[in-house]
Amino acid sequence: MAVQDRVLIAGAGPVGLTAAANLSGHGIPVTVFEARAALSEESRASTFHPPTLDMLAPLGAAKPLIAQGLVAPRFQYRSKQQGLLAEFDFGAIGDLTGHPFRLQCEQSKLTRILLDLLRGRPGFELVFGAPVVAVTQHSSHVDATIERDGRVETQSGRWLIGADGASSAVRRSLGIEFDGFTWPERFLVISTPFDFGAVIPDLAAVSYVADPVRWHFLLQIPGLCRVMFPIAPGEDDELALRRDFAQALMATVLPGRSDYEIAHVTLYKVHQRVAKTFRQGRAFLAGDAAHINNPLGGMGMNGGIHDAINLTERLAAAWRGEVPESELDRYDKQRRLVTLEYIEKQSIQNKRNLESSGPEFRQSLQHIAADRERTRDYLMRVSMIASLERAKELG
Ligand SMILES: Cc1cc2nc3c(=O)[nH]c(=O)nc-3n(C[C@H](O)[C@H](O)[C@H](O)COP(=O)(O)OP(=O)(O)OC[C@H]3O[C@@H](n4cnc5c(N)ncnc54)[C@H](O)[C@@H]3O)c2cc1C
Repeated sequence: MAVQDRVLIAGAGPVGLTAAANLSGHGIPVTVFEARAALSEESRASTFHPPTLDMLAPLGAAKPLIAQGLVAPRFQYRSKQQGLLAEFDFGAIGDLTGHPFRLQCEQSKLTRILLDLLRGRPGFELVFGAPVVAVTQHSSHVDATIERDGRVETQSGRWLIGADGASSAVRRSLGIEFDGFTWPERFLVISTPFDFGAVIPDLAAVSYVADPVRWHFLLQIPGLCRVMFPIAPGEDDELALRRDFAQALMATVLPGRSDYEIAHVTLYKVHQRVAKTFRQGRAFLAGDAAHINNPLGGMGMNGGIHDAINLTERLAAAWRGEVPESELDRYDKQRRLVTLEYIEKQSIQNKRNLESSGPEFRQSLQHIAADRERTRDYLMRVSMIASLERAKELG
C-alpha cells in the first residue's frame, strides 16, 4: 500500500464535512470515510450561532444555509408562572459579527450544502459505507483500518481527524478516555407544525421556558416547532415514546390546548464528557468525538465546527511548511480548554437555570438586560464569541 499524502477524516457529519471543506479550500487532498450509506437525516442540532456562520461564510456555506433557515435576531427566557422574564437581541453585538442572529436550521441541511460544494473538487473523495475501525500511528503517516463491502482495508494519510461522533471508534482505538457523566433524565424532542407564535404574543423563534418540574423550550425551524422536555428517571423509554404521553406534555405548554399534530418524537440520553486529549500524534479528535454536552444553548455542533476550523487552519499552515508540526499541539490546548471552560460550564448552567423559576434566575436576567455592557458580555458568552476570544488569548 502506497502512503498517500492526504488528510483522512472519519465521519461525514457537520464537523467532518466542515473540516473537509476548509482543507479542500486550501488545496489539500482529503478522503472522508462515512460509516452510513448516505448522509444522516437525523433531527438533531437546529441552531447556528453568529461566529459559526462567520466561519461557514468563507467556505460558501453560510448563504445557502441562511436561505434554507429561519433568522432569529432575538431569544427569550420565560417562566410558566410569570410569562416573559427577559429578551435579548443579537443587534447589541452587531459590531462583533457579520451575522447578528441565531440561524434556526437543521444540521442535515448543512451537511448536504457542504457535500454539494465539495463534490467534484480535485483531491476530494467521500466513501460511504466505510466505517473506520482502527487507527495506527507511524512517524511519517497514520493508517486507518476501514471495513468496506465485507472486507477490511487500510488507507494511509499524513494526518487523520476523528469526527466520527460521540461513540468515536477513532477515540476508542487511540485509547483516549472520555471523562464525564450522564444525566439521570433524558430529553424528549416533540416536533409539531403548530404555530405557537400565533397564540403567544411576542414569542421569539427561540424561547426557553423555566419550570422546576417540567421546563421546556420552543425552537422554531422552518415549518416546525421543536419542543423539548426533560424526562424523569422514573418515566421509562416505552412510556416516554407513547403518543398520549407526548400529548400530555404538550398540553402543559398552553393552558386549555391539547391534541397537537405531532410530526416526530425523539428521545435522547444526555451526557457531559470531554476527551482527555484532542491530539495524539498524527490523529486529532473534533466535534462529538472530542466533547459532548446537553443541547441547552446549542453548543455541541457549533463547538465542533469551531474545532474543525481551528484544526484545519493549523493543518493547512503545517502542510505548506509555514509552521512546525509541534504547532498542532495548540489545537488541543485551545479547543480542549475552551470546551471545559465554556461549552461544558455554560450548557450545565443553562440546564440549572431552566430548572429554577425562582427569583434568583429572574433577577439575574433582569440585572443583565438592564445594562448595555452586561448585555453585550452575556450575548458574547451565549453566542460563543467569548469562547473564541479566550482561545485566541491562550496563544
Ligand atoms: C436533541 C439534540 C439537539 C441538539 N441541538 C443542538 C443545537 O441546536 N446546536 C448545536 O450546536 N448542537 C446541538 N446538538 C448536538 C449536535 O447534534 C452534535 O454536537 C453534532 O451532531 C456533532 O457533529 P459531529 O459531526 O461531531 O458528529 P455527528 O453529527 O454524530 O456525525 C458523525 C458522523 O460520523 C459517522 N460515523 C460514526 N462512526 C463512524 C466510524 N467509525 N467511521 C466513519 N464514520 C463514522 C456517523 O454516521 C455520522 O455521520 C443537539 C443534539 C441533540 C441530540
